[in-house]
Amino acid sequence: GKGSSNGHTNGVNGVKKPEFLLDRNLHKTFPLVTRGKGNYLQLADGRTIFDATSGAAVSCLGHGNERVIKAINKQLTTGVPYLCSSYWSCDVVEELCKELINGTGGEMSRIYLTGSGSEAMEASIKLARQYFYEGDKNTPRVNIIAREGSYHGNTIGALGVSGHVARRAPYEPFLMKVHRVSACNAYRQRRERESDASFVARKASELEAKFQELGPETVIGFVCEPVVGAALGCVPDVPGYLTAMRAVCHRHGALFILDEVMSGMGRCGTLHAWQAEGAAPDLQTVGKGLGGGYQPIAAVLISDKIVSSLSNGSGQFVHGQTYQAMPIQAAAALEVQKIQREENLIKNVQVQGAYLEKRLKSLLGGHPNVGDIRGKGLFWGLEFVKDKQTKEPFDTKLGVAQRVHDIAIAAPFNMTMYPGTGTVDGIAGDHVIIAPTYIVTREEIDHITKVVAEV
Ligand code: PLP
Repeated sequence: GKGSSNGHTNGVNGVKKPEFLLDRNLHKTFPLVTRGKGNYLQLADGRTIFDATSGAAVSCLGHGNERVIKAINKQLTTGVPYLCSSYWSCDVVEELCKELINGTGGEMSRIYLTGSGSEAMEASIKLARQYFYEGDKNTPRVNIIAREGSYHGNTIGALGVSGHVARRAPYEPFLMKVHRVSACNAYRQRRERESDASFVARKASELEAKFQELGPETVIGFVCEPVVGAALGCVPDVPGYLTAMRAVCHRHGALFILDEVMSGMGRCGTLHAWQAEGAAPDLQTVGKGLGGGYQPIAAVLISDKIVSSLSNGSGQFVHGQTYQAMPIQAAAALEVQKIQREENLIKNVQVQGAYLEKRLKSLLGGHPNVGDIRGKGLFWGLEFVKDKQTKEPFDTKLGVAQRVHDIAIAAPFNMTMYPGTGTVDGIAGDHVIIAPTYIVTREEIDHITKVVAEV
């Protein structure tokens, strides 16, 4: 109650029930975090938490990185954390964009910087539509195809593209019409003895059929996450999927759009998830690991053909927000990206990711309630089932994933997990995500996997 030693009303033993902040859950209390360093968070109740999820797959360099803090402070001392980007340019913003373009191996030619992944998705949808509009003001291209069991953000446009049933439900009447194809989920959908190639061919013909149903000349593009994050819990596309889906889009002159807000910027073991099979998109979003949580920043990576259509057309992207391309955001993200590159941290993602997979599978692969262990790089999900043979999920009312999380975060385990419920082809199942920082060590992977197994 009032007068608690940590100064927060309702602060009891370092736990706070928010009174003034509207957060997702009005009935929950939250542990109070006082400091962060590396993989650890310090709580007001004296506990130290191991962050095995980088927050929500954001804090790729861990917490309290001195170099990033210094870079932010340096930018602040110039007196321009903010500039109106419609009128002014700034070295640090240009340098970040150059760094990002270089990271695509020249596949992309311009960057649009936003403050969140949702805003980046909004911008990419508008850019995709404008690409066709520039060539023909009466273009029949009005249809977007996206997947079931996807998450692209919480703003109205981005939620409209999302196939996240629960998050859409209250707002359904507001959401734009987006056409759907199935998710790419080998655990739930692969037929007996079906090869990767046949599975991918099946997905590509489903997309082709959707184009034909809508009329190929009406389709703007197809949007997907290379590894589905929040909606399904680290479900990676089957090898060859991105290439095959891109081919369908391009056969019909439509755009291939990738949402790498969660799976990109090194998280899956390549800087961009599409680089694993060289399936460069026409438009791509990134976020989370771009700024590593040190500033709110996300981006749209834009290919030359889109830029050319704007350049030869109206000469502008009909968009813009106050807090876009801020020098302070760019300073943080640029430093995060430089550190990641200079310290070869994506190599660590590959090495520790392979070890994480091995340990999770050896400790939990035989567990009767762990149906699937899937992921890429340092982005892994465990799906819980009531019956391993039939893959029957638990009743979602039991809140299994949330309970696993609640046990993990409490003493003696003191570790984060990211819980969720994902729906594939009408079947809702529980999962947790494990997504450590890129600075995680082998010993820490031993710790994480031991905790996961015990929990
Ligand atoms: N796209 C994907 C794939 C995401 O995982 C998220 C967030 O989890 C978003 C978009 C939305 O990003 P933000 O929460 O920064 O708006």
